[in-house]
Amino acid sequence: MTTVDLTTLREEVREFANQYHLAPRSKALDASPAFPWEEYRALGTRGWLGPRVPPSFGGRGWSFRTEAVLLEELAAQGGSVFAKLVLQPEFCAVLRRAAPELRERWYLPLLRGERLVGNQITEPGAGSDVRSLSMTADRVADGSTEQYVLQGTKSEAAFAVDAEAAIVYARTGPKEAGGGLTAFLVPSDTRGITVEPHGDMGERWMRRGTVHYDAVRVPLTHQIGEEGQALHYLVEELTEERVMLAVIYLALAESSLTEVIGHARSRKVFGTRLGDLEAVGFALAEDRALLDATRLYLEQVLTEIETSKATPGRAGMAKWMANSVALRVLDHAIQFHGGAGYSSKLPHEQRWRDVRSGGLAHGSNETLKMLSARELFGPR
Ligand SMILES: Cc1cc2nc3c(=O)[nH]c(=O)nc-3n(C[C@H](O)[C@H](O)[C@H](O)COP(=O)(O)OP(=O)(O)OC[C@H]3O[C@@H](n4cnc5c(N)ncnc54)[C@H](O)[C@@H]3O)c2cc1C
Repeated sequence: MTTVDLTTLREEVREFANQYHLAPRSKALDASPAFPWEEYRALGTRGWLGPRVPPSFGGRGWSFRTEAVLLEELAAQGGSVFAKLVLQPEFCAVLRRAAPELRERWYLPLLRGERLVGNQITEPGAGSDVRSLSMTADRVADGSTEQYVLQGTKSEAAFAVDAEAAIVYARTGPKEAGGGLTAFLVPSDTRGITVEPHGDMGERWMRRGTVHYDAVRVPLTHQIGEEGQALHYLVEELTEERVMLAVIYLALAESSLTEVIGHARSRKVFGTRLGDLEAVGFALAEDRALLDATRLYLEQVLTEIETSKATPGRAGMAKWMANSVALRVLDHAIQFHGGAGYSSKLPHEQRWRDVRSGGLAHGSNETLKMLSARELFGPR
């Protein structure tokens, strides 16, 4: 594993944040959504896109903890946008199982920030219940060659507008046979694809949407990994990404907690400091304790994941806890800053919206609790 000096890394991130004006840029992207190509490429040039990816796949082979420091610092300097970009190649980790030519064409450029690839799992009829996905991929003969033909609709997809390709999960076998799902790399300009963009309450730069696939033909070489095994790959990938998302939520909450405590020390109401009022002081003291406790739990899970011992349930609970505690902290930051807290003059409302998506994306809170409960009680 590559060793990195963490103090130097934090300094480098701060310099980067100044150079690219990350904080104002994050705010501007919220108001005027677009994919931040310039910053994405700059992150890639520094080797900060998917730095945990092993060198054998073109990455830097950083540990989870080193990547966590990069995420924390980027989130502290520029909100969730740039930290989430770091994870993008890891959200596409299944591509490492693709044939070498496909990897070369789509995975390596992801690490360099030259290409954007989305992940399309959710459908109008099934999201949490991934086993019930209904998009089909039928193998058909076309003259002397065989192809897959994709039919169905994907919904809620991040980067539906901007991604040049998507990893699409489709049914090639019955639900019972380990899910019967196969992953495909589908370039977005393939005939038969249409995109309906939709608006979001936060993280608008992801430009999500619904994507229709009408008899979309894909060469057999665009199949990723083994047929019918995509669900297993997804569980492995999601376990890792959930832990790293938890790092981002806590970093955003930490920034707002520091800021609201500072405000509660200086703001005077009814002749006293805001923080001296029990309603405010107790709430912020609880926030401090909850944030620290969640960080400790996350530390444990980071140790487990470094040694391949983190279960999907433990990783899921790290994401759920970090998301719930961060939302509570951010809500207090909005509340105790008064009217200004609700406005875009301060960063708390944007942070709240950006963290709120995490209660649904990459496994909803309820789904994660279900995973954890199954580990406690075993299958029915
Ligand atoms: C910002 C954002 C980005 C996203 N990006 C992508 C993307 O790039 N690609 C992609 O494929 N999807 C993406 N999603 C979709 C996301 O993964 C789904 O919304 C999520 O999996 C839930 O699925 P659903 O929307 O179909 O809701 P449903 O599965 O219909 O669930 C509805 C509600 O019921 C709850 N629920 C479901 N099952 C249970 C249960 N057994 N017990 C208790 N409660 C339950 C859920 O938690 C949820 O609150 C994104 C979502 C968001 C918000």
